[in-house]
Amino acid sequence: MSITSTALVLRGPREIVLEERPCDDPGPGEVIVAPQVVGICGSDLHLYREGRIGDSILERPLVLGHEAAARVAAVGAGVTELKEGDRVIVEPGLACDRCAWCRSGRYNLCPHVRFMGVPPTDGLMASRVRVPARWVHHLPDELSDAEGAMIEPLAVGLQAAHEAGVAPGQTVVVLGAGPIGLMILQAARIRGAGPLIAIDLADRPLEMARRLGADFTVNPREASPVDLVQEITGGTGADIVIEAVGAAATIRQAFDLVRRGGVITLVGIASEPTIPLSTNRIVRGGLQVRSSFRYAHQHPIALRLAAARRVDLLAPITHRFAAAQAPEGFQFVDQHKDTVIKGILTFADGREGG
Ligand SMILES: [Zn+2]
Ligand SMILES: [Zn+2]
Repeated sequence: MSITSTALVLRGPREIVLEERPCDDPGPGEVIVAPQVVGICGSDLHLYREGRIGDSILERPLVLGHEAAARVAAVGAGVTELKEGDRVIVEPGLACDRCAWCRSGRYNLCPHVRFMGVPPTDGLMASRVRVPARWVHHLPDELSDAEGAMIEPLAVGLQAAHEAGVAPGQTVVVLGAGPIGLMILQAARIRGAGPLIAIDLADRPLEMARRLGADFTVNPREASPVDLVQEITGGTGADIVIEAVGAAATIRQAFDLVRRGGVITLVGIASEPTIPLSTNRIVRGGLQVRSSFRYAHQHPIALRLAAARRVDLLAPITHRFAAAQAPEGFQFVDQHKDTVIKGILTFADGREGG
């Protein structure tokens, strides 16, 4: 006998519905969580608009969502570290724990990972979800559920700053001031980098970037980012450029912004299957082109930084929708790209804070 869960299901591009689905009892080592606040991520929007994100294609109806603060609703056999009622967040990349990458600590690269909310694995936009206890973290009392939902994007930002090797005093350019770009910016600031420069095509995210620590911002529709970075760096270019858009134009621009010998770190997932680049430019410029994919071991750090108020997780949240209005919420976020920075869905009795 199982209870049902109200889930937000993507059936095809722009076809999203609330649906009652069965939710099984937790098995050994598993818990049932009741999500309270779930963030709407750029990847959710890719799936919503295009029915795909990178190589992951929507082939059957999918429950979206991978950024959740939740309550533990039931606990399976053998779970000792969690109990019913605990406030938690879910780390959505369910890695296998057995492969070479998992065993070496780089579980973000696990080839067997089931990433919640990305095809074919159902996600967290539901009233009850069964998850392995292994990937559930306690949410400290001082953090609201809305902040809890932002821990996952912060983990992405922390990983990106780590992979880029951001160090004190370095000039860092972040291409894209959406939720991920804003988290990268805060992570770079914590690491002591500066000046920090944010680039985006919309003004509202740029205002937010300034509020969260960007020393300079530039909208390419109004001024040349290359000229600005040249001016700031005395003509050498940025030490590090982190690309958080995933578009051919911004990936190419990264090469115009970085200094000789500098580091480019790609974070955005591009819609195009291939993007031509000049390899000679990489070799002759002594460039290091790196990437940052999701995160490994960043959630506990993100939780500590948030609890210590070293980052602002609430500022980027511009729109909140009740779960019952989730389909309209997705439509709104999709149609208001310039004004929505981060939208969140609130389930049941979520303690929002902020
Ligand atoms: Zn995300
Ligand atoms: Zn693995």
